[in-house]
Amino acid sequence: MSALAGIGYDSHRLAPGRRLVLGGVEIPHEEGLDGHSDADVLTHALIDAMLGAAGLGDIGEHFPDTDERYRDADSLGLLARVCELLDVAGLDVVNVDCSVVIERPKLAPHRDAIRERLAGVLGIEPRRVGVKATTGEGMGFVGRGEGVAALAVASLATRER
Ligand code: MG
Repeated sequence: MSALAGIGYDSHRLAPGRRLVLGGVEIPHEEGLDGHSDADVLTHALIDAMLGAAGLGDIGEHFPDTDERYRDADSLGLLARVCELLDVAGLDVVNVDCSVVIERPKLAPHRDAIRERLAGVLGIEPRRVGVKATTGEGMGFVGRGEGVAALAVASLATRER
């Protein structure tokens, strides 16, 4: 068995009239994330971490934001597609860990729901899905409330045949 690690990063702009979806969970807030898909920044970072670990490129190659099929796409559906690619490649997800950099709102009340949601798609136990949040301490685009960033790492294992 080989262990494979990957890293992912994403950011999206906050805008009025949009939904705030993080890890497939809609969080009540006066603004949401803007983008071609549902702009689920956490799931996008996670997808890049998983594709990176698998050596399968990045989210932009698989789901181009110029493709109308992915307009307002449910990012959990994209994550499920990536899980299928990994399965075909003989790779299992061991664990993932994510950090969301967001000034407001607080994510703590939603953390367990996000972990369970992602774990359900990944087919692993929620305790293998880390979801953490921090603020920008008032600094930069996050601190000014202009956007949200997310980082993720994924650990994969080659399946024994
Ligand atoms: Mg994105």
